[in-house]
Amino acid sequence: MARTVFALGFLLVVLLRGTALQSESKKSTPRIIEERFGQLADGREVLIYTVENSRRIRMRVMNYGAIIVSLETLDRRGQSADIVLGFDNLQGYQGNKPYFGAVIGRYANRIAHGEFTLDGIKYKLAQNNGTNSLHGGTQGFDKVLWHSEPFEDPHARGITFTYTSKDGEEEYPGSLKTRVTYTLNDEDELIIEYEATTDKATPVNLTQHAYFNLTGEGSKDVLQHVVKINADRFTPVDRDLIPTGELRSLERTPLDFTKPVAIGEHIDEKYEQLQFAGGYDHNFVLIKNGTEPSFAARVTEPTSGRVVEVYTDQPGMQLYSGNFLDGTIIGKHGHAYGRRSAFCLETQHFADSPNHPNFPSTILRPGGTFHSKTIYKFSADADSKHD
Ligand code: BGC
Repeated sequence: MARTVFALGFLLVVLLRGTALQSESKKSTPRIIEERFGQLADGREVLIYTVENSRRIRMRVMNYGAIIVSLETLDRRGQSADIVLGFDNLQGYQGNKPYFGAVIGRYANRIAHGEFTLDGIKYKLAQNNGTNSLHGGTQGFDKVLWHSEPFEDPHARGITFTYTSKDGEEEYPGSLKTRVTYTLNDEDELIIEYEATTDKATPVNLTQHAYFNLTGEGSKDVLQHVVKINADRFTPVDRDLIPTGELRSLERTPLDFTKPVAIGEHIDEKYEQLQFAGGYDHNFVLIKNGTEPSFAARVTEPTSGRVVEVYTDQPGMQLYSGNFLDGTIIGKHGHAYGRRSAFCLETQHFADSPNHPNFPSTILRPGGTFHSKTIYKFSADADSKHD
């Protein structure tokens, strides 16, 4: 009898230990790792998070600019590559860099002459792009340190970033409380949610500025990437890339991506809009049906098979084909980022909306909450079919 009790007790101890070890071993492969990435000139520490899903998608994001520093996805053979442009260290991101991987705010895209009038008051912003204001001004949301909180659910994990932009910061009115959440789930989706509230009326337009190259950052140009966009109109621009106010049909233009087309197919055609921008740098008016995120774009890279799909609740999306990259920026692993070596799909409200009453309004008022959601879904095509 004593022997049986002893044996049962022993068995129980072994079983309990096994469970503990199992949960320890689960714990020993965390899906979020927080590390120090560097230090700002004022001494504040910058943190970087490595977030991985159960299907080997791995992303590194830092709390400076809420920047996506790297994003590894698999090709059709299961080979991983980092598909976003960026730098190896914090210093790389500082200074006048083209917003690699950052959250853009308070106003993504351009505001003509850095001026707008709201409720009878004229506001003058920094002119940091010729005579225009671009991407929030001289120190937009891409150049501030966000507060960061990692979170983990059974099938999703990510980081919540918060930042309060002070009343008058970059000359914008109102204290704007902003929250951006990146969630990487086990369905290979990166979900980006934006939320903002204000204490004075202000324009708000928030986006994510990842530069993608689906063959891997540092590879050749993206001209072979095949793009489909769910839009039938775009907002033509003048030579300073400011919308004229027109909503023009894409039909019979070299900007028509309603059927899948390679970026390089028409990019150098003698069409004024392409000449003004040196390629694609245009806001597409997305076809919407309701307020939930819906299909906006699909980009396929034929050799690797990598695909990114975009779903959004925003009315517009900027397709930028990296025309201003010229090889002078040396990014990760010593890679020189040449002209058109990446593309951006920036979900947004239209550029310069505060000066175009016919565009959907970007004005947030006290008591209201700005919400928006964009999903980037990654996959690989078994063959090089395009749609
Ligand atoms: C703009 C481009 C600009 C790039 C980097 C894009 O969102 O549309 O014109 O060069 O950002 O600043």
